[in-house]
Amino acid sequence: MSTPSASLVCWKCGASLAGLSLPLARLDECRGCGAALHVCKLCEFYSVSVAKQCREPIAEEVKDKERANFCDYFKPRPNAWTEADPTAASRARSELEALFGASAPGGPSGEPPGEPSAHAPSAADRARAELEALFKK
Ligand SMILES: [Zn+2]
Repeated sequence: MSTPSASLVCWKCGASLAGLSLPLARLDECRGCGAALHVCKLCEFYSVSVAKQCREPIAEEVKDKERANFCDYFKPRPNAWTEADPTAASRARSELEALFGASAPGGPSGEPPGEPSAHAPSAADRARAELEALFKK
């Protein structure tokens, strides 16, 4: 096995896993935070954008992505840890506000002014209410 573990980091805390021997054992844990390492979140096939969050179609679904699993397809992914971005939420919010601001009457929306648009205000209001409910959670 020539896969270097030097580029592997804990999916939870980002600690280097360089000292671990590969392949990872099912019960291997992070020396920094004790997180299980044979888990979906450290796996190459893990992806939040696909069904069951696994890009390996044959693998059995693993419900808990943070607990050691028995998946035969587990393959550690380098740089699995990404620092949480505390500004992401506020940035998304301001982008949305800019979006609504642009569609306000008289704004640079590209719609001809004075055009009767009975559907537009209610749709915008509904979307805005949904977003507000979202942010309240
Ligand atoms: Zn850790």
